[in-house]
Amino acid sequence: MDHFQYLDRVLHCEEVPLAELAEKYGTPLFVYSQATLLHHLKQIQSAFAEADPIVCYSVKTNGNIHIARLMAEHGSGFDVTSGGELFRALKAGGDPKKIVFAGVGKTDVEMRYAFETGILFFDVESEQELHRLGEVAKSIGTVARAALRVNPDLPPKTHIKTDTSVKGVKFGLDIDTILEVAQGVVGHPNLQVVGLHMHLGSPILSAEPYRQGAEKGAILIAALRKQGHPIQYLNMGGGFGIHYRKQEALPAQAFAEVILPVVRETKCRLVLEPGRFIVGNAGLLLSRVIFTKESGGKHYIIQDAAMNDLIRPTLYDSFHRIWPVAPSAGLPAPPLDYETAIPHTFPQNVVGPVCESGDFLAKDRNLPTMKRGDLLATFSAGAYGMAMSSNYNARCRAAEVLVTGRTHRLIRRRETYDDLVRAEVDCNS
Ligand SMILES: *Cc1c(COP(=O)(O)O)cnc(C)c1O
Repeated sequence: MDHFQYLDRVLHCEEVPLAELAEKYGTPLFVYSQATLLHHLKQIQSAFAEADPIVCYSVKTNGNIHIARLMAEHGSGFDVTSGGELFRALKAGGDPKKIVFAGVGKTDVEMRYAFETGILFFDVESEQELHRLGEVAKSIGTVARAALRVNPDLPPKTHIKTDTSVKGVKFGLDIDTILEVAQGVVGHPNLQVVGLHMHLGSPILSAEPYRQGAEKGAILIAALRKQGHPIQYLNMGGGFGIHYRKQEALPAQAFAEVILPVVRETKCRLVLEPGRFIVGNAGLLLSRVIFTKESGGKHYIIQDAAMNDLIRPTLYDSFHRIWPVAPSAGLPAPPLDYETAIPHTFPQNVVGPVCESGDFLAKDRNLPTMKRGDLLATFSAGAYGMAMSSNYNARCRAAEVLVTGRTHRLIRRRETYDDLVRAEVDCNS
């Protein structure tokens, strides 16, 4: 469910026509709906309410301070994967007691920063990291709180580049050896193993992996407690899928149904790290057609958003719905299912100006005839869109706008050419 809709054949974000935003802020432009963001956060909070979970919004999904601040204001904590993300979370007003820190390669500097701020716990991903965390804690005279991240070794669930719980990926501790690793730190004066963590991958469109993961987790928690570790937290990570192609996402309730029984059984405090579920459908990428052309029998729509703005299609072969902002008379509403024929459309490639054959937002996509100046909306671009954007081809990064009701405000200005060289020291001499 989201608040992007066509009224009189004009696409609106909440009550604002997108053409108005394109006019005022230019394109390419990320447009976010505040009502959608909060709706999705609320959906998770309600579905899991029984467990009073610590919801830790995943900063890497979309780290804009204004979005993160909204999350904090509505009760969310943060899941961070770097010192930079911790900085963002704190700057957004995040409560350190609701911040968890994952990532396979935390440096001493990042660990110290997290100790100083007093985060809830570290999600530890290797034996070396666990021991190093103990050493760093000792050096500053503190006790580290750690949740062991387990790789529960589940069948493949998503794209090979985003599956984080099949055997052999770099994430977490192997389920076969995690207890040996934990045994090695029993009674460690500077380490407390207080939780078990898993993040299964993303986006996941079935509750089954969570059921299997949580069940394996319950067995591990019992074993860790038997070793003497005071396990209080079960952190089930993020990964809840969203609508990209059609209405394929599950409601948060479906995940709650398989996770909550294990929370009851283990009497742990539940931690969740949703990212995409909250912000994915709350944002779209607005772009303007520059040219159209035909080449080798293929039709191209060349518009001003590119792989440097939204790399998911290039990186993961991801599917994003794309539709004109103001479809002409006779065209249907944007299709909820692109796999069936759509009248008045033909297969076209939607590409950007970047000098790469891999620069595309969609391939062989049924779209109507577009012309120079027309606006296009690429839906479900709120997660891993701006967050993964780059300056490749010396392209200035897009602006971001947050809409609520009839009002809108710039939450990140469009970059300028000067921004492109700002970090290159002494570039004016
Ligand atoms: C990326 C990530 C998340 C968020 O995943 P989503 O699919 O966006 O919900 C949560 N936890 C960890 C450890 C992650 O790396």
